[in-house]
Formats: sequence, C-alpha cells, structure tokens
Amino acid sequence: MEKLAFERPIIQRINAGLPSKHGISRKLEPISHIDEVPIKSLMDEYGSPLFILSESTIRKTYKEAYRAFSSRYPNVQFAWSYKTNYLNAVCNVFHQEGSWAEVVSGFEYDKAIANGVPGELIIFNGPDKSREDLKKAINNGSLIHIDHFDELYDIIHISKEIKERPKVAIRVNMDVGVYPKWDRFGFNFENGEAWDALNRIMGSKNLDLIGLHTHIGTYMMTTEAYRVAASKLAHLAVSLERKHGHVIQYIDLGGGFASKNTLRGAYYPGTDTAPSFDDFAEAITTALMNSEIKPSHLPMLILETGRALIDEAGYLAGTVLANKRLSDGRRATIIDAGVNLLFTAFWYEHEIRPIEPISEQTEDTIIYGPLCMNIDVVRSNITFPLLKKGDHYVIRRVGAYNNTQWLQFINMRPNIVMLDVDGKTHLIRKAETLETINNQEVTPEHLRSFNL
Ligand SMILES: *Cc1c(COP(=O)(O)O)cnc(C)c1O
Repeated sequence: MEKLAFERPIIQRINAGLPSKHGISRKLEPISHIDEVPIKSLMDEYGSPLFILSESTIRKTYKEAYRAFSSRYPNVQFAWSYKTNYLNAVCNVFHQEGSWAEVVSGFEYDKAIANGVPGELIIFNGPDKSREDLKKAINNGSLIHIDHFDELYDIIHISKEIKERPKVAIRVNMDVGVYPKWDRFGFNFENGEAWDALNRIMGSKNLDLIGLHTHIGTYMMTTEAYRVAASKLAHLAVSLERKHGHVIQYIDLGGGFASKNTLRGAYYPGTDTAPSFDDFAEAITTALMNSEIKPSHLPMLILETGRALIDEAGYLAGTVLANKRLSDGRRATIIDAGVNLLFTAFWYEHEIRPIEPISEQTEDTIIYGPLCMNIDVVRSNITFPLLKKGDHYVIRRVGAYNNTQWLQFINMRPNIVMLDVDGKTHLIRKAETLETINNQEVTPEHLRSFNL
C-alpha cells in the first residue's frame, strides 16, 4: 500500500455565516470539467500546459452582448477586435455570429482577408498603416479609421494616384473623465483638432467620410465614460450635418468594456464590479437617442468589444512542478505556465483552481511560473490548497490578449484546443517545436560547426 502523505492537523474556526472578503467560503472548489469535458483527459491527450477555449461560451457571451445593444438601438454591428485574440477559429466563431473584423496592422488585415471577411466589412484602425496597406484597403473598400494628419495626407495622395474614393472615418480622442487620458491615438475633441480633421476631409472632395470612431481605453469600469464619448461623437455628427449637410453612416464606440477578471490590488472581485453589457448599452444608446441627431439619421452603432467577449471562454490548464519554501518561510508553488503564456498575469489576479478535489488545508502561497526570471509570478499572494508536484490546476478567464501577447521565451508555446458546442475537441493551434523556431533562423556557413 502506498504510504499516505503527512498532513499536519489544522484547527478550523467555524464561522457561522461570517463571510470572507469574497463571499461565504474560503475554500477553492475544484473545476474538473469545461463544457462537460474532463480537463484531465484533455491534458492527457494534448499535453500540459494547455489552452482550452469554449465555443459555446464565446457564442453565449456574444449573443448576450448583441441582445443588450440591439434591444435598445435599431442598428447595431459588432466588429471583432483581432488583436484581442486572432486565432482563426476564434475569429470565425465571431464572424459566424455576424461580427465584422477590426484590425490594427497590415498583418491583421491580411489575416481577416485570409479568413474570408469581405474587404468592405473590415475596419482598419491604428497608427501603423503603410502606403501598401492603405492602397490595399482602399481598393478593397475597407473602412479606414484615420489616426493622424500624416495618414490623412497619405490617403488623399493615394486616392488621387489610384483614382479611388477611400471610405474613411476619423478616430477621436477626448476627455471622458477617466485618467490618464488616452490622447495618443486619433484627433483630439476638446482642442478642436478632430473638427479640423473633419473639415479637411470634407474639403478634400476625394474621400467619403462615413463614420466617427473612438476607443476610450481598456478595462473601463464606468459606463459614464461611454455616455460622454457617445455624446461627443454625436455632437460632431450634428456639426457635420449643420455645416456641410453631410450625414455619417456610423458611430463606432470602440472596445474597452471590463471583463470579469479582477485587477491586481482591487478590493472586490471583477465579477462584482464589472458593469454588465446591459449597463454599457444603456449608457451608450441613451446618449445617442437623446442627442441632437435627427431620428431619421441615427447612424449605425458599431462596437469593437474585445476582452469582455472572449476572456470568459478561455482557460489555461497545467501541472504543478514543485513546492518550496522562501527564505521567510512562505510557501511557493511552481507551475508549468508563467507570464510567457499568461501575459495578463501582470494586470490581473487570475482565478486559479485545482482540477481535482484535494486537501482541505490551505496556506498563503505565492505561485510562480516555470521561467528562470524573477518577474515570473502568476499570483503574488493567494490562499491556496496544498497542491503537490504532479497535481493539476486550471486558470480561468484567460481568453483575451494571452494568445496574441504570449512570448516564445525560454519555453515554446503549447497546444490550444477548442471545445465545440457538442463537446467535441478540436486542436486549433499546434504546440511549437524546436523545428518551428529553428525554421526561422539562418546560421551563417562559418558558424555551423565548432570543435569543443
Ligand atoms: C484593442 C482595441 C479594441 C478592443 O479593446 P478591448 O479593451 O479588448 O475591448 C477595440 N478597438 C480598438 C481600436 C483597439 O485598439
């Protein structure tokens, strides 16, 4: 018989109904299944660590967001923010649900085209668009959101050269009461720069001004900021109609809704503090409906929601590598996924749970990733059960930004699977191998051999 591991006895205070900061129980319940599929069996087949995406959660979240806006406003369109997660399988779930594509580089633009998104349903944002990118986007009839005057002059120049009428909007930055202000992208509202850019576009005669865009920030926890943003864009739309008799087709409020993750250092968990899609929709649509825009000219409302649509659908499962004691006696648990795979650990106190029922004992623990680097901390302080080497964990709400910002650093990037709505598993991105990495390298002839 295998000898049982020693567990020191514990004395537990019975709290008759006295909740901890986060609710009734301090115990971390295991998460053993995702969409009824055992996490352990997924790791047995696809390795550890492993990213797992739930297609049904993506669709459910999207439908919830769409309902919140479309039940309050006549003309609503979502555009999937590629940089939030540009795995083709993920993008295509959103495209199947009706989302256009929102891209911020030539690479992302080409990815959307390769996925089969029609050019005229691609929104091209960001400060980095080369002349070649712009030409391609203009020829495809894509929606180009101008970031700065140099880009505006480039577009006017190209439009004359290739005799096409580019479809453009401007990105507007503004004071929405959240600081620091995001004023590095687009044209400023308060100092008149945005109005100046609009007049220049109207004056150029070569461009079709079709929309107004803003993206006020990310992980916004206040709906009021969106009310202000929508009012300011509506004000520009009204001014355009008044002065130029020009009616724009859409107002694009960008992304930025908070997901249910908890920010580092936050007192309350994100599940309690993030406004709902209904809250955001109420603020935005009320501002547009109550603006001076004529009801017959109400523009399409575009949303480029990223993290709030995908965070919940992503999981990162893996294995405990070791436990040790720090010099001050604190317990440290080392796991096989670190900030190389979980870039968002820099921002969030990610929820991490065991996948099988384990000891009732908990201890204040610091959870490290596997990297040989001091900043590789997944949780700096968590009351955590005593997982042993070889035990498994799962980290929740990792769908946004990790599969795009991850680093091939020290280790290679692992498999990603998607569970479809019938619970079937699909490998959607293969783990990297030494070959993947070496394929990109070219070693000069004289450096190919050595004698030691
Ligand atoms: C990143 C980005 C988004 C998505 O932002 P989230 O905070 O993930 O919702 C939308 N629009 C633009 C222009 C962006 O840069």
